[in-house]
Amino acid sequence: MNIEQLYNHFLQSSGVSTDTRKINKGNIFFSLKGPNFNANDFAAQALEAGAALVVVDEERVIPRGDSRYFLVEDVLRSLQQLANFHRKKLSIPIIGLTGSNGKTTTKELLHEVLKKKFKTAATVGNLNNHIGVPLTLLAIGKEVEIGIIEMGANKQGDIKELCDIAEPSHGFITNIGKAHLEGMGGPAGVLKTKTELFQHLRENKGTVFINSQDPILSNLAKRFEKPILYPAKGDFCEVSFEGADPFVKFKTEGDEQVHLSSLIGAYNFGNIATALTVGKFFGVPMEKAVEAVISYKPSNMRSQLIEKRSNLIILDAYNANPSSMEVAIKTFGEMTGTRQKMVILGDMYELGESTEEEHRKLGEIVGKYNFDKICFTGKHIQIALETAPLRSLYFPDPFSFRNWLQDSKLENYIILIKGSRGMKLEGLVEFI
Ligand code: ATP
Ligand code: MG
Repeated sequence: MNIEQLYNHFLQSSGVSTDTRKINKGNIFFSLKGPNFNANDFAAQALEAGAALVVVDEERVIPRGDSRYFLVEDVLRSLQQLANFHRKKLSIPIIGLTGSNGKTTTKELLHEVLKKKFKTAATVGNLNNHIGVPLTLLAIGKEVEIGIIEMGANKQGDIKELCDIAEPSHGFITNIGKAHLEGMGGPAGVLKTKTELFQHLRENKGTVFINSQDPILSNLAKRFEKPILYPAKGDFCEVSFEGADPFVKFKTEGDEQVHLSSLIGAYNFGNIATALTVGKFFGVPMEKAVEAVISYKPSNMRSQLIEKRSNLIILDAYNANPSSMEVAIKTFGEMTGTRQKMVILGDMYELGESTEEEHRKLGEIVGKYNFDKICFTGKHIQIALETAPLRSLYFPDPFSFRNWLQDSKLENYIILIKGSRGMKLEGLVEFI
């Protein structure tokens, strides 16, 4: 059967699913294969759970004459093709975004801004890969006026593949830093991978937004005839960030001062500037856009603020890589106030052969600031002790660390917690 037939089924369905535990009645179930499972084996179960149709790529699982099975060559490929077919039928702007850091934050800010004027759909959570992007597209209904698609990459070619599926008409890169160095072949590979989005926009005469405060990105602007550069002179984007106050402050076009109470760090200003610029491009009134930014509260461990007794915790345990570590430590280091400061840092993953060097550098970076307590935890990060201040503490395993935290009875501290997702550093919060 071909994609057009599958699309006709899709139009009559209640949406698609790839997880038998989350099937809604009337769904089309895609039997994907993963490293540890083959969902062809769950196709019958999916039908029992209410799926109207199951897409499989192994004939052996199809009971003779059962028309609810849709046999294809490759289920993943069919999911992607269906998503692309659907995208082509949607004649709406699709904003594609990628970058090393700040994708989800910017996507959420932009979603809030655009919602002030349009019916919008955006990537849910962090579903930004070769499966998540098709699922996001297929969830865009007829009523939607603008779609926002986060695109993540582990290796070269990933962003191109996602662009071929989502065909973004507009796009931006949040920044190009050191993330996923391992799969992408070092910093040059990261640049190449991220700019696959720009390449797509150039070839298809799309609109590109470029943060001119970022030297790498502004250099890439030359590749476009009419890039939208921001912040423009006299624009809303003037930042007056001071070390004493970690919260982002900026001025609007009308010289109105905006002082946020939930987003910290100069790095978040770039995320906000992007959301405001794209919002402005699509005609969202500035005061509405600012309202949206003010009311945005990060959650999910992305610079999330948590009060615990007399302590204030900045939980940034969602992910970590050398660039985001550096900006987070800098922002934290430059904060002033009456509280004592403590950093809890965990391993950064996926750095390949740069692993030792980047963790060693982390020790140096921490040493630039006057933190009252410095704690490292994880396997790779031990090497940071070579360059970090002597008073730094190291805990190879979470158990000894938890006990130490509990015994320390911290009071009146401000604490930054940051490490890669696999470190699950959020588990420490309850012991503070
Ligand atoms: P992922 O690759 O996991 O999808 P992401 O690019 O979506 O990550 P976010 O989840 O938005 O990034 O942010 C993760 C962390 O990165 C934040 O908690 C913050 O520490 C840091 N960060 C956010 N924005 C920036 C930025 N513009 N520059 C550098 N670091 C940032
Ligand atoms: Mg993300």
